[in-house]
Amino acid sequence: MRIAIVGGGMTGLSAADVLSEHGHDCTIYEQDETVGGLAGSFKVNGVYLEKFYHHFFTSDTAAVALIDKLGWGHKLEWLPTTNSYFVNRIYHLSKPLDVLRFSYISLVDRFRLGLLYVMTRFVNDWRSLEQITAKEWLIKMAGKGVYHGVWEPLLRGKFGKYADQVAAVWIWNKLKLRGSSRGKKQEERLGYVNGGFGQVIDTWEQTLRQRGVEVLLNARVDEVTIADGRATGVVCQGAFRPYDAVLVTTAPELAAKLAPGLPSDFRQRLAKIEYLANVCLVMSLDRSLSDTYWLNVGDPTIPFTGVIEHTNMQRPETYGGTHLAYLSRYLDADDPYYQMSAEELLEAYLPHLAKMFKGFSRDWVKQLWAWRERYTQPVIGLDYSALKPPFQSPVAGLWLCSMAHIYPQDRGTNYAIAYGQKVAEEMLAALPK
Ligand SMILES: Cc1cc2nc3c(=O)[nH]c(=O)nc-3n(C[C@H](O)[C@H](O)[C@H](O)COP(=O)(O)OP(=O)(O)OC[C@H]3O[C@@H](n4cnc5c(N)ncnc54)[C@H](O)[C@@H]3O)c2cc1C
Repeated sequence: MRIAIVGGGMTGLSAADVLSEHGHDCTIYEQDETVGGLAGSFKVNGVYLEKFYHHFFTSDTAAVALIDKLGWGHKLEWLPTTNSYFVNRIYHLSKPLDVLRFSYISLVDRFRLGLLYVMTRFVNDWRSLEQITAKEWLIKMAGKGVYHGVWEPLLRGKFGKYADQVAAVWIWNKLKLRGSSRGKKQEERLGYVNGGFGQVIDTWEQTLRQRGVEVLLNARVDEVTIADGRATGVVCQGAFRPYDAVLVTTAPELAAKLAPGLPSDFRQRLAKIEYLANVCLVMSLDRSLSDTYWLNVGDPTIPFTGVIEHTNMQRPETYGGTHLAYLSRYLDADDPYYQMSAEELLEAYLPHLAKMFKGFSRDWVKQLWAWRERYTQPVIGLDYSALKPPFQSPVAGLWLCSMAHIYPQDRGTNYAIAYGQKVAEEMLAALPK
């Protein structure tokens, strides 16, 4: 069978891997100049660094298996990492004792926050969390003090106008996932491929090409054509190419636009799934900002929601001695920050960085990059099971798989790989032999 895959991110590569292993003739269409999508990289002093901060959790079994399969297992490191929270100053929140010392909230609330982390690990029935918002659930589990002091600023920072709509399933999964990525002594451990995940993606792309997968770069698909109720091919750069099946791995809203021949009620359903955009400012610094890897920002006056100091997980020596930090902001695509250049972002962020990090000055920053993408985080609202689209669209031969299909887990490289495999297996079962 001839199969077109729209999107060369983790989902598209993963599906192409399975389908081509079964002898199908696959073409990946990627609009960018490289594959990798949101997990893509650029180079700092000749070494790959992800455009958007990335790490793995110990539960990311599909990603670890892929890294091993492609021969990069020896470079995968599981490293101790620190978590902190900035509100009027930086509070460490990595260990149980840190929670007890978190004097920004009352002592009772500190116990309730600690209990929330523990109790979340024992909640397995996610279905019961589909009908309750994250806000309601957090207040129920830990009280208003903990919600307003810790979670509300984080939810507002990430989801903006959607914050009150986010379902409890989303926050439950986040807490559970991160809380369980721990070593023997219960310290947080996160995974990273030394030298960058870009190395793994390069090997993956080469492996697929050698197997005969056609990988087309700078190849934006403009339409998925449909005739007589079945997908017939794609239009790319004005040319039609026929296929027996098409898999679209973009955000559902884009899939609805790409395939005008889909039934209108199904297209409306796809368009209802909202996504946040993200802009990440990456700074190369001559010194470290703090001792924290992951710093959540709970001060609503600060225009970024997280400071991820990559070189507090990886060694600066890997990048020629430079320190690397991401400043992340999730936002709507019409937010003025989404259009700002790297320099403009830094200008806007400077007073806040000075407030957060003692002695911070513009001279510390040696190089800057800004990365932005429109579709980075689906908004998981109440009763998402009913909205989540199926892999198989109502049009024969047209399949969909995206970050919005990942549920009850949240989007992530591991799940993109696992769900890419899953959709490919469903396609294999449905395609004529
Ligand atoms: C800020 C941030 C931090 C993250 N941190 C982590 C982390 O720490 N750990 C982790 O595991 N995951 C993390 N992720 C999530 C992870 O990057 C994604 O879940 C994963 O990469 C999604 O892969 P995908 O293939 O489903 O989607 P995408 O990567 O979005 O791929 C879709 C591809 O389709 C292409 N495309 C779109 N339209 C067209 C078209 N018309 N024609 C051709 N091509 C098209 C796009 O260019 C893109 O390459 C993070 C994401 C962000 C944004």
